[in-house]
Amino acid sequence: MKLLILKSGREKSLLRRHPWIFSGAVACVQGDPGPGDTVAVRAGGGEFLAWAAYSPASQIRARVWSWDEGETVDGDLLRARLRRALAARERLLSLGDSDAMRLVHGESDALPGVVVDRYGDVVVLQLLTAGAERWRSELAEAVRELSGCACVYERSDADVRGLEGLPVRSGVLHGSLPAAGAHMREHGLSYGVDVAAGHKTGFYLDQRDNRKQVGDLARGREVLNCFCYSGGFTLNALAGGAQSVLSVDSSAEALALARANLQRNDLDAARAEWQDADVFKHLRALRDQGRSFDLIVLDPPKFAPTAAFVEKAARGYKDINLLALKLLRPDGLLASFSCSGGVSAELFQKILAGAALDADVDATIVGRFAAAADHPVLLSFPEGDYLKGLLLRRG
Ligand code: SAH
Repeated sequence: MKLLILKSGREKSLLRRHPWIFSGAVACVQGDPGPGDTVAVRAGGGEFLAWAAYSPASQIRARVWSWDEGETVDGDLLRARLRRALAARERLLSLGDSDAMRLVHGESDALPGVVVDRYGDVVVLQLLTAGAERWRSELAEAVRELSGCACVYERSDADVRGLEGLPVRSGVLHGSLPAAGAHMREHGLSYGVDVAAGHKTGFYLDQRDNRKQVGDLARGREVLNCFCYSGGFTLNALAGGAQSVLSVDSSAEALALARANLQRNDLDAARAEWQDADVFKHLRALRDQGRSFDLIVLDPPKFAPTAAFVEKAARGYKDINLLALKLLRPDGLLASFSCSGGVSAELFQKILAGAALDADVDATIVGRFAAAADHPVLLSFPEGDYLKGLLLRRG
């Protein structure tokens, strides 16, 4: 029997059903478990707490697969979890004109370290932890069978794999990618998705409904979309009737994807302007040029992956939000996002309050954003609640 025994008193978070066991809470490990092996987690007093995946290289030393002593962690259990995750999304998928969705969202779907994203007929599997890696072939087979997609692609190349002592790995697991690449529909718009080299698994699915909501506000407005990636907010703004959209990103590959995505849709390319630039610098350039906008989107990358980066992240968020608020015309709207796990919604709101103060403008919260419903948040796992956003109206 492979065992992980906690220091006395360190079982509290597990009793609250938080699925992570940090190295500092571990008293001893018995039975010589290898990376990804299932261990029985017991309190100092011997009480059974959970079955978990052992991860010797990581500060997160184990992640819970099951709270039930009578359950066996095997391919069948993981397949059942996958089936539940898919069933929970079936109704969502029929909503709106979309065929792309996150099918598995890690811990919140009781599958720690496992992400499954579907783009049309291509499904992308991402394994982030030693525990997920241990069940790679079972998971890949279950995803193939249950998703019914023609192609299963693996994108196990996220940086966090390094913390788990895992090599990067990506490529086709089943079928083949369509010759013209993966493609998808979202709220009636068509996108090509670079599942092989794009960010995350190819697309930022978490922003699906926020893109639509912001697009619906764009009618007749001059829009600035910062950190545009493959053009999601840009296309929605154009579809929503924006007068013009200026999209900024510092990645030439992202801008190429975005331009190609614009061409896939019946939208007026003459209303779109693209800028390959660093947003921090370009907002200043726009200020110096005396430009102004009616609607600005700020959807930057993760500035604070963990709490250790919070201060630096806060400075970054304040800087871009201050500049954006100054570029807004009176009554203009700012849709401002943070996907930093280390920055809470409360802190983000405080940062924006500071930015408005320093910009010397009044701003009112007229909406709040979170990740779409296919990115559920387990109540006992607040880390899952990483995406937050505010819609501000400038006074
Ligand atoms: N809004 C997008 C997702 C944005 S992801 C969507 O809906 O799909 C963040 C983007 O910011 C990436 O495309 C990345 O290339 C870009 N980026 C990162 N740092 C940047 C910087 N300093 N200036 C401009 N773009 C940046």
